[in-house]
Amino acid sequence: PQKEPFEVRELVRQAVALTAAEGGGIEIATDIEPQETLIYADKALMGQVAVNLLKNAREAVGGRPGGRIEIRARIDAAEHVVIEISNNGGAIPAEVTENIFTPFFSTKTDGSGIGLSVSRRIMQLHGGSLRLTANTDSRVTFTLRIG
Ligand code: ADP
Ligand code: MG
Repeated sequence: PQKEPFEVRELVRQAVALTAAEGGGIEIATDIEPQETLIYADKALMGQVAVNLLKNAREAVGGRPGGRIEIRARIDAAEHVVIEISNNGGAIPAEVTENIFTPFFSTKTDGSGIGLSVSRRIMQLHGGSLRLTANTDSRVTFTLRIG
């Protein structure tokens, strides 16, 4: 990866803007704490990860009323940057969660099924991780962690 320091809020802002056209009417709440949080990473690759996760969140919420996406960032006890992307589009069934990080697995008629596998790979290239950390009807959360 081609690493450089950049602000998490800038990464989030750009990813939200890039995916905005695809899902009008969905409420997006961001909580970036602290505001100046920097990550040292490949900006283009991290942008791909953020866009992939936001697209999935938008597709999960679809056009349903009350659809909501939350993006939270914080520093954990080990001083890693943690970014959580949540949506309320309904829980992912167990037989699906088993496969979501498998390349080309998709439950969508027009899905490529590469978003999550590539995103996890990118996080691993940065010494970080991507995991499904909440899975209920009111909250599905994917968590990125990066040194
Ligand atoms: P694609 O979006 O092309 O289907 P992904 O790798 O991005 O491929 O996602 C794989 C599968 O994981 C999706 O087809 C979907 O079943 C599931 N998935 C991913 N994100 C979510 C989410 N936020 N809510 C529900 N299901 C999800
Ligand atoms: Mg996807």
